[in-house]
Amino acid sequence: MGNRGMEELIPLVNKLQDAFSSIGQSCHLDLPQIAVVGGQSAGKSSVLENFVGRDFLPRGSGIVTRRPLILQLIFSKTEYAEFLHCKSKKFTDFDEVRQEIEAETDRVTGTNKGISPVPINLRVYSPHVLNLTLIDLPGITKVPVGDQPPDIEYQIKDMILQFISRESSLILAVTPANMDLANSDALKLAKEVDPQGLRTIGVITKLDLMDEGTDARDVLENKLLPLRRGYIGVVNRSQKDIEGKKDIRAALAAERKFFLSHPAYRHMADRMGTPHLQKTLNQQLTNHIRESLPNLRSKLQSQLLSLEKEVEEYKNFRPDDPTRKTKALLQMVQQFGVDFEKRIEGSGDQVDTLELSGGARINRIFHERFPFELVKMEFDEKDLRREISYAIKNIHGVRTGLFTPDLAFEAIVKKQVVKLKEPCLKCVDLVIQELINTVRQCTSKLCSYPRLREETERIVTTYIREREGRTKDQILLLIDIEQSYINTNHEDFIGFANAQQRSTQLNKKRAIPNQGEILVIRRGWLTINNISLMKGGSKEYWFVLTAESLSWYKDEEEKEKKYMLPLDNLKIRDVEKGFMSNKHVFAIFNTEQSTRREERRDPKSSYGF
Ligand code: GDP
Ligand code: MG
Repeated sequence: MGNRGMEELIPLVNKLQDAFSSIGQSCHLDLPQIAVVGGQSAGKSSVLENFVGRDFLPRGSGIVTRRPLILQLIFSKTEYAEFLHCKSKKFTDFDEVRQEIEAETDRVTGTNKGISPVPINLRVYSPHVLNLTLIDLPGITKVPVGDQPPDIEYQIKDMILQFISRESSLILAVTPANMDLANSDALKLAKEVDPQGLRTIGVITKLDLMDEGTDARDVLENKLLPLRRGYIGVVNRSQKDIEGKKDIRAALAAERKFFLSHPAYRHMADRMGTPHLQKTLNQQLTNHIRESLPNLRSKLQSQLLSLEKEVEEYKNFRPDDPTRKTKALLQMVQQFGVDFEKRIEGSGDQVDTLELSGGARINRIFHERFPFELVKMEFDEKDLRREISYAIKNIHGVRTGLFTPDLAFEAIVKKQVVKLKEPCLKCVDLVIQELINTVRQCTSKLCSYPRLREETERIVTTYIREREGRTKDQILLLIDIEQSYINTNHEDFIGFANAQQRSTQLNKKRAIPNQGEILVIRRGWLTINNISLMKGGSKEYWFVLTAESLSWYKDEEEKEKKYMLPLDNLKIRDVEKGFMSNKHVFAIFNTEQSTRREERRDPKSSYGF
């Protein structure tokens, strides 16, 4: 960035400042600026007036500055001032500027000398200034003054802190030389928010009022209470000078003479005085803005996005036109329908990459959660075999049977089919929950119209609930149907007659004899960690989990078996997925005691838990 660009940084921030002031407190950006703080009568106003070379700030006893004054100094060939609150008027008479500040202060605070954090924005164009933005803040008060309410001290402190605690602010801490630096209100307050003194600039006023034989050399050489940005000494007009209407130009000349002739300051006269202070502030603020730009840019962008969102919400809102009301209502309801369908049915535009849509979640319930609930259904093969054997024996009664009776088979199968009810109903519950969440997400666009939102949610939710009842009835009916007649002729059915044949077929197909498809609980990839320390790391195997064993193979072909682990008395339980992890983990554990855990990662995620 060239020099020219740098010069424009302060005016650029001024424009932003005005834009934000005009839209009020709702939108706020911490712009880089200089906040002027100091005790009452420390000389803050005098410093600012010296920069401009004009008397334009209110004076008097008690708390004179009662609203923050954002003072933008802009280098210009002609000299005039303007306020943001009455931009059309150009002030050339600076007495009028003072009157307007007083009047505008009272407009917000009332005439009873209250304070307000709502700033007044004043812009001064002048050939004598360097571009600079300063905030004149109320003086730090120690004791309640006159007719001020007693808590005003805290109100002022709060207001000052509100401005200087922003990392974006430089702090101009004004301290009079005729008081002990260690007791400086300005430095104490600055230290609260900038303990390392990185963004505090010290200003020492009233050097001319120091007792005979004392000086502030140590302070000004940054030796006493060092600040990274150092201290600059100034000499403003005294009360007598002001009353005598001493010209500021003459005052600046006197200030220069003071530093050049004073034995303690002569050697650093070039680094002292109002013009040097102004130049330093201009440079430091410019650098500070440059450093803050990237951050500022990203903040502005995110504010823009959120504003655009808000604009979207109000796009149908035309309170002045009653005929638009119905149309707007219909449009919003229609939009709700479209949004809902997109979220459930899926859509190519505006795809959410942060979270799964309702439709995708429902898909997951159907294809991952539901099958999981099915395999999770506890069935202990030993119990089942015992039940079968009892059923057969009970059906034979006193007779000894030759053939396995179908009745026994049916009795057992029916018992198993009934068990499907619970996972099926649970699946419906999960889907309903997703639908209702989706309704809520879609109605959030209507948040500017709370009653419409409430009513929309109520109607749609009632409808979903009604359908929920009917769906559950239907599912229970289906299960009843399945249970009432077992069609052993169906091709999917492995009857006793062809079970044997099928099992041999399967055995031929696979190199390794298998218990048959029915008993496989899960297949997938498995990670085995630290096979040997020498190789280190982990290795992937294809696993097959059956009720009796966990085997792992080289790959999906299931030809090369690496190991088979018998699983007597073991149960399977899925383990919650960890934060940031895409691994699906389940535990195989002994019901009696210790836990063994296998990690499984399944890229195709046929179960995925
Ligand atoms: P503020 O309350 O911090 O804004 O202080 P002012 O700028 O209003 O100054 C308070 C009083 O101190 C005024 O009477 C000024 O004339 C006087 N004053 C400020 N700076 C100096 C200075 O450097 N030397 C002298 N002699 N008087 C000063
Ligand atoms: Mg003042």
